Amino acid sequence: MTREHVLRFLRRNAFILLTVSAVVIGMASLDNKATGRMGMRAAVYYMVTTVIAVFIGILMVTIIHPGKGSKEGLHREGRIETIPTADAFMDLIRNMFPPNLVEACFKQFKTQYSTRVVTRTVVRTENGSELGASMSPLSSVDNGTSLLENITRALGTLQEVLSFEETVPVPGSANGINALGLVVFSVAFGLVIGGMKHKGRVLRDFFDSLNEAIMRLVGIIIWYAPVGILFLIAGKILEMEDMAVLGGQLGMYTLTVIVGLFLHAGGVLPLIYFLVTHRNPFPFIGGVLQALITAMGTSSSSATLPITFRCLEEGLGVDRRITRFVLPVGATVNMDGTVLYEALTAIFIAQVNNYELNLGQITTISITATAASVGAAGIPQAGLVTMVIVLTSVGLPTEDITLIIAVDWFLDRLRTMTNVLGDSIGAAVIEHLSQRELELQEAELTLPSLGKPYK
Ligand code: ASP
Repeated sequence: MTREHVLRFLRRNAFILLTVSAVVIGMASLDNKATGRMGMRAAVYYMVTTVIAVFIGILMVTIIHPGKGSKEGLHREGRIETIPTADAFMDLIRNMFPPNLVEACFKQFKTQYSTRVVTRTVVRTENGSELGASMSPLSSVDNGTSLLENITRALGTLQEVLSFEETVPVPGSANGINALGLVVFSVAFGLVIGGMKHKGRVLRDFFDSLNEAIMRLVGIIIWYAPVGILFLIAGKILEMEDMAVLGGQLGMYTLTVIVGLFLHAGGVLPLIYFLVTHRNPFPFIGGVLQALITAMGTSSSSATLPITFRCLEEGLGVDRRITRFVLPVGATVNMDGTVLYEALTAIFIAQVNNYELNLGQITTISITATAASVGAAGIPQAGLVTMVIVLTSVGLPTEDITLIIAVDWFLDRLRTMTNVLGDSIGAAVIEHLSQRELELQEAELTLPSLGKPYK
């Protein structure tokens, strides 16, 4: 079985199950617990921090532009014919609400992504024969052509250089799945299941175990892929251009993710803490340091959970009724680090491939990155797996996930730390805002179900 087979399988079959099960279960667990005022506050906090994280991710990757300098990218060439923003938004809305869900599994509205512009360049020698007629992207045409041109000139046989643009279909850019439509449906379905309380249990359990199974499967496939890709890349590594893609750009990409995560974890989250509680955020961060180190060591928000509880409850004295509710839910749905990384990475992959994304596509990336982070479980490299959702939604090549595998083990640790810090600060912020309710509850001596010990 070749790498192509494996990746095609990943794209076509596992994708739909992954999207639906991950998003349904993420939303179901949020709605199931997010009732009442505290629940609402938690939901608002998750939303606000997630939106800021997406924004930082997009901003960083746009400013730093780590994919720059990839002549034609590793795989594809040319640039996508862009369409007016208004049309892109119409596509976005049409894709969000597919008239037929089954159809959405193999068909999406796509005014865009259908063509690309390439330049075909022909160098002719005196006797009329064509030298190196090539259909290449603009930048490499320049290099390739000037080389041919120089040779023919040097030989004194140059007759003419012809360059013309051609519009050709984009290969493999849209695999037909309407990811956005599936995501929107899954969000609604998950919320409904969550709201059904005990009646929704069977469905919750079903999607939970479906998600677990498919995550494992996709995880295996993703780890299998590098074995094949290693040989592919090994051959190419000698070519300087691809070295740039794998070396320089990957380095810049890593740096961009680090800067983005640092801005969010070191700037935005402490600022939110300060604005809400009017307290110095740094002693608080010092108090959760042990949890952050555990997050770094385990790459898993869920595995870190017991330490996060201990830091917040015993070390910082945060109310158990808050922590026992906010932290477990947050560990699965509130992943600021993951969402930042997903949006940033999708745009990086577009940059590497010389794809120009329009505003509609960037909006799609923001929405699906949010869904993908909600859907990602708090386990190592879950974000890498749900990346497939984001890439598919805008027709970017999912096999390019393999480009970032080499650095993902490291970035995963950093985004898990950000996720854990986001949940911890969330607990403190919600505790502060819920002081009245907590006092009232104490006065009435009625502990709500939130007080149940975490299992
Ligand atoms: N490992 C992360 C976490 O547990 C999820 C991810 O892969 O982004 O929070």
